[in-house]
Amino acid sequence: MATNGIHHITGIAGPARRNIAFYTQTLGLRLVKKTVNFDDPTTYHFYYGDRSGAPGTILTFFPWEHVAPGRAGIGSTQETAFRVPEASIGYWAHRLLEKGIEHGTPEKRFGQSVLTFKDPDGTSLALVGIPGIEGEPASWEAGEVPAEHAIRGFFGVTLLVPEAGPTGAILTDVLGFREIAREGSLVRYQTDASTGGTVDLREAGGFLPGRLGGGSIHHIAFRAADDAAEAAMVKKLAERHGIATTEQRDRNYFRSVYFREPGGVLFEIATDIPGFAIDESEEALGTALKLPSFLEPRRREIEPVLPALA
Ligand code: ZN
Repeated sequence: MATNGIHHITGIAGPARRNIAFYTQTLGLRLVKKTVNFDDPTTYHFYYGDRSGAPGTILTFFPWEHVAPGRAGIGSTQETAFRVPEASIGYWAHRLLEKGIEHGTPEKRFGQSVLTFKDPDGTSLALVGIPGIEGEPASWEAGEVPAEHAIRGFFGVTLLVPEAGPTGAILTDVLGFREIAREGSLVRYQTDASTGGTVDLREAGGFLPGRLGGGSIHHIAFRAADDAAEAAMVKKLAERHGIATTEQRDRNYFRSVYFREPGGVLFEIATDIPGFAIDESEEALGTALKLPSFLEPRRREIEPVLPALA
């Protein structure tokens, strides 16, 4: 059965090595794909996620060595949150301090424990403590983080929008979410997905617009089971909301369309198929530089201009 929710989240980072070290070592995610930005092959594109890079666990980055910092604001993603077992929040608070990473005072949001912190580029992150998920498999067990405390995919995102209604209409009518709660200026939308099933909209009225740069989230991708499901969403966007998407683009591991939602955030719809094992085995994910077939003939000119990772 089709699952709705977040497929992946893509951010803009500074130096590639620092980005890999933070997400694989400090947070314990798996690097599931090392490829290039298909639209600018002199830049890496890293995908982090669980063992197989399942939809709802994938955080991706375009690392630019000399990126200017971005700014949060209207039409931007305020926070990206991961799921951890509720009892592990204390472990993480301690771990982050030990690594020299400041975190916020643990807070309650919709009754859940939330620990906020930033990555080295200033990307706003959070860990949300979820009761009863201790038994779920860890995202990845090869890192420094013990399996019992490991991240279990995305919790969700918080988007800064002028008002919740117009963005909420797209989430509920097209992307399979429903509004479940309100708390202050936050409106929460959810799907049945265990990972990546939450979008919080923060109504931020007259704030300045956000500016893309290091530490910014570039776009949020939502799940479609396959091409037909994606096409149905595209049709609904056009017919019921007057929103046109781009043509479908083949991203090798999924096929995507993009559109700007009414609150100003760049949304993508990405297919669950074919997934990350299409060009390397699950055991080998993330170990070699993978290029799409249209760039493979240029491998010898691309590899030397990419930043050194070791
Ligand atoms: Zn994307």
